[in-house]
Amino acid sequence: MKIIIIGGVAGGATTAARIRRSDEKAEIILLEKGKYISYANCGLPYYIGGVIKEREKLFVQTPEAFSTRFRVDVRTENEVIFIDRKRKTVTVRQSSEDTYEESYDKLLISTGASPVRPPYRELI
Ligand SMILES: Cc1cc2nc3c(=O)[nH]c(=O)nc-3n(C[C@H](O)[C@H](O)[C@H](O)COP(=O)(O)OP(=O)(O)OC[C@H]3O[C@@H](n4cnc5c(N)ncnc54)[C@H](O)[C@@H]3O)c2cc1C
Repeated sequence: MKIIIIGGVAGGATTAARIRRSDEKAEIILLEKGKYISYANCGLPYYIGGVIKEREKLFVQTPEAFSTRFRVDVRTENEVIFIDRKRKTVTVRQSSEDTYEESYDKLLISTGASPVRPPYRELI
């Protein structure tokens, strides 16, 4: 079973670790468009406020440590730009701007969300 996970923070990394615990043989590929995975968003206000002094403390796992611990193929700076559901492939853009295709049996999308901003109306 080849599983591709898009997004490597809370949802994506947690799912990758969970899959590995229940399936020793699965091929798991974690695609993250940023440089980091599994970082503590929740710690950011504490870092800005000086409670957490060292930036490194925000990183729960490095890509290397996560990859070794859970046998997951972690690919940072790899952004999924297209999903072909019929062919079960994703198109991935690397930081070099090169693109490649990767096939999957199962796809998990954990790309986060943005807040809905109601339209601003000036109050008179
Ligand atoms: C300042 C702050 C404080 C918070 N405090 C708390 C708290 O105290 N308690 C709490 O429960 N929650 C808190 N949260 C919320 C919590 O951090 C989020 O709920 C959680 O990070 C969501 O995880 P996620 O994996 O769904 O998405 P994200 O953390 O948004 O991760 C999604 C990842 O997907 C990647 N991605 C997106 N598109 C692509 C693509 N096309 N290809 C490859 N990768 C892609 C992004 O680069 C990103 O790294 C806080 C959030 C913030 C910002």
